[in-house]
Amino acid sequence: MEDDIETVLWSSDEISKRVIELADQLNHDLSASSTQLPVFVGVATGAFVFLADLVRRISLPVSVDFVRVSSYGFGTLSNGSPSISSDLKLDVIDKHVVLVEDIVDTGNTLSKLIEYLKSKGASSVSVCTFLDKPSRRKVSIELVGKGKFYGGFECPDKFVVGYGMDFAEVYRNLPYVGILKPRCYQGIKEERPKN
Ligand code: 5GP
Ligand code: MG
Ligand code: MG
Repeated sequence: MEDDIETVLWSSDEISKRVIELADQLNHDLSASSTQLPVFVGVATGAFVFLADLVRRISLPVSVDFVRVSSYGFGTLSNGSPSISSDLKLDVIDKHVVLVEDIVDTGNTLSKLIEYLKSKGASSVSVCTFLDKPSRRKVSIELVGKGKFYGGFECPDKFVVGYGMDFAEVYRNLPYVGILKPRCYQGIKEERPKN
């Protein structure tokens, strides 16, 4: 698995430090605002590692839930019309939701999810994404209520794996984030984005 990585972008130590900084900001903002318990909603599967690290640094009581969105399949290109394939278990009416993502690329997935959480009655929606690829944004992210945007690292326009992120469902368990070697894409039919 390690042999498939061309470049490590963020090491495990760098990630840990950044996660603590993000959690500190969230601790500060959440304690200043809400009386209701915030709900952290992870976008499965990619956000599971980040969500687990993040919530363990949150010092207030929070609830945790997941949604699943289908758009990527086994390739590297989004089909542009994500659909919610696994619903929330928790009720988010009048709740502050912190939507936790692995990476924001075109913004299609997040926009869809924010609309959805709004329609479920969330009073505000913040976004906390581990990585952000602003250069590839097609849809702007419209937060709800007093929601804020928290971003871990700005990612170059490369397809990355590790720390929860996959290629064809592999590499999620790498403790760092890296760029895959080109030979790893061979045999996969779907075209990958130009890097
Ligand atoms: P968007 O809807 O913003 O275009 O895509 C968001 C989703 O696409 C992310 O949640 C992630 O699952 C996937 N994605 C986008 N860029 C990358 C990448 O570089 N690596 C991996 N592994 N997944 C990505
Ligand atoms: Mg994701
Ligand atoms: Mg994926």
